[in-house]
Amino acid sequence: MKTPLLVASLAFFTSSILPSAAALHIVAAENFYGGIARQMAGSDAKVLSILTNPNQDPHEFTTNASTAAAVADADIVIYSGIGYDGWMDKLLGTKGKPTRVVIDVADLVGAKDGDNPHIWYAPKTMPALAEKLVAVLSQDNPANAAAYQKQLEKFQAAMKPELDKIAEINAVVAGTEVTATEPVFGYMADALGLKMLNYDFQVKIMNDAEPSADETAVFEKTLTTRTAKILFYNSQVTDPTTERIQQIAKKAGIPVIGVTETQPPDQKSYVAWMLQQLNAVQAALPAKSR
Ligand SMILES: [Zn+2]
Repeated sequence: MKTPLLVASLAFFTSSILPSAAALHIVAAENFYGGIARQMAGSDAKVLSILTNPNQDPHEFTTNASTAAAVADADIVIYSGIGYDGWMDKLLGTKGKPTRVVIDVADLVGAKDGDNPHIWYAPKTMPALAEKLVAVLSQDNPANAAAYQKQLEKFQAAMKPELDKIAEINAVVAGTEVTATEPVFGYMADALGLKMLNYDFQVKIMNDAEPSADETAVFEKTLTTRTAKILFYNSQVTDPTTERIQQIAKKAGIPVIGVTETQPPDQKSYVAWMLQQLNAVQAALPAKSR
């Protein structure tokens, strides 16, 4: 007799405490933002992430009818901004709920057009988004504000090992020269104090443009002369040039670290994903061999 009573009271509890939130729809342009939304909102929202495919180049994504419908139906939309996901600007320009809240993450962290668009690799970005989400969710459902606040504190605690790791690596490798096929890791490299070579080349690869012969020659030289101590290889934005560069790095004995635009399916959280990449950097740059 006790079990049915418990079920009944739980059902009542849920529907009376969370009247509107259960129907909340959050659409994130990218899965790493969707992951944070899921952590903050818990079971109070349905979260849909649009860019999730680790084999797709997000810079070349185009929308379809189902992404348009999801954005039109969203209560909260999260996107990166400054041109990374310009397709979302277009979707937001069409129909949507009048109460819809749009979070432009670049705006939130003060990134400007022309900046490196991969802002989620900057250590300050996800905590800023988590804080903003909790403010928005709490306004929508004040009765649950304390629970959202708890989720925020949990996330801030989870970020600590990442921030500690960044400081630990920075202390021993700051100033080391590295390079990359595409600028996805740029902000994290900055946080680590690494000196990133060949940025203009990387931007061209990002934009699917052909680097000049000079840029390519200079890039290859940073590998063959072992000036760059790491090659960050973006496996989501590749072409024959980047594949050749990867081969040159391997031949020269330069550690190649694979980095991705979206959160890979085998990484259970943003922090786990970042830590995995940071551990790879730490292993490639032991303090003694500098
Ligand atoms: Zn990119």
